[in-house]
Amino acid sequence: MIAEVISIGDELTSGQRLDTNSQWLSERLGDLGVRVMYHSTVADDLDADVEVFLAAIARSDVVVSTGGLGPTADDLTRDALAQVAGRPLVLDEPTLDYIRGLFARFKRDMPERNRVQAMFPEGTRIIPNANGTAPGIWLDAPRPDGGTCHVFALPGVPAEMFEMFHQTVAPAVLSYSEVPRIIRHRRIKCFGAGESHVEQMLPDLIRRGRRPTVGITVSSATITLRITCDGATPEECHAAMEPTAATIRDTLGSLVFGEEDDELEDAVVALLEQTGSSLATIEYGTAGALATWLSRAAGDSPHYLGGQVLHSTAMLERSLGDQAALVKEHGTSSREVAEALAAHCRQTTGADYALAVGPFPAEGANNPDLPYYFSLATPEKVTVKASTLYGHSSIWTPRAAKAALNLLRLHLLGAA
Ligand code: AMP
Ligand code: MG
Repeated sequence: MIAEVISIGDELTSGQRLDTNSQWLSERLGDLGVRVMYHSTVADDLDADVEVFLAAIARSDVVVSTGGLGPTADDLTRDALAQVAGRPLVLDEPTLDYIRGLFARFKRDMPERNRVQAMFPEGTRIIPNANGTAPGIWLDAPRPDGGTCHVFALPGVPAEMFEMFHQTVAPAVLSYSEVPRIIRHRRIKCFGAGESHVEQMLPDLIRRGRRPTVGITVSSATITLRITCDGATPEECHAAMEPTAATIRDTLGSLVFGEEDDELEDAVVALLEQTGSSLATIEYGTAGALATWLSRAAGDSPHYLGGQVLHSTAMLERSLGDQAALVKEHGTSSREVAEALAAHCRQTTGADYALAVGPFPAEGANNPDLPYYFSLATPEKVTVKASTLYGHSSIWTPRAAKAALNLLRLHLLGAA
């Protein structure tokens, strides 16, 4: 069973509003075991709307549209569906009473224009809307190949649409499958290798057509392996995914830091708790990412002491204590400064561990000769690492902060 999601509205095609309904509906349809094959976005234009509905009906089993069911002249979905069905719009008295009642509750007369929201293409079903004046339209349309396409037209307002989907569309869609199947996902999170490198390590899992399927995505250097499986129950799906998850964990080893919504800082905080140790941070160039992320992840935990966010050479020198001269001697972005920064941070805060990210070098982009440095001070020693600022500048900050967190994570894994 394949589905298509149609979003209707000038505000969407003109770029003024982001089409979030398609994302939400696609996830829900996926949960129900229905593969969404097409997304269409179309303006408030009758001919264009009809064209999009006809194309969708010809190629899909289920179509869910949102938008265009309001009372105003630019709301054309009901007219488009009447044209698609080749039927006139007819008034549904109970719906008209319902809409009048909604206005009466707020002591207002119903504007004449709202009457149109009680009109439906003849022979279609009504999808009740408990939260607004725009009921939806349910049309079972014959397909050119002799099959039937089930069309559900819902209003665009997200909160109204959500409830109508759960109340009416989801049960209907489930009833169309002979054996109701649900879909479940599991996400395994990794850091420390490139996307293609991870893919190479798991050639058999990423293969198309495999069951459960495994997909790979990357966001700010964090790699997510998404396992997807269908089954009759959530337990069946989970059990079917477990061997795949185990293979991924075994193959990738310490590249894996967590699952689902875990971030690197969550893994670090968990390891600090496990080892009973404390951490302080100091960073220059990462816009406070370490301090922000770790504060959130630590919550009430006393294992993260806090962090300093530097934004000037004067502060950098002050943070080096009696080693401030290193800045003039070696430059702000230097191995020596990064090393002293972590050591001094550890000393002054009394933390077991100190993580430092040194300033990014000016003109350092894509230049391995101009690296930035980050460092970890432990009770035993200070480790300094160098890395290059590559890719788009928007990714430098998160990647540098994550590289630092990962340095500590790997150290703590050895200590745990
Ligand atoms: P409509 O049902 O076309 O009158 O849409 C009502 C409101 O719902 C619009 O003004 C938007 O604010 C919102 N809306 C419509 N379509 C979408 C969509 N695809 N994604 C997110 N919001 C939407
Ligand atoms: Mg609209």
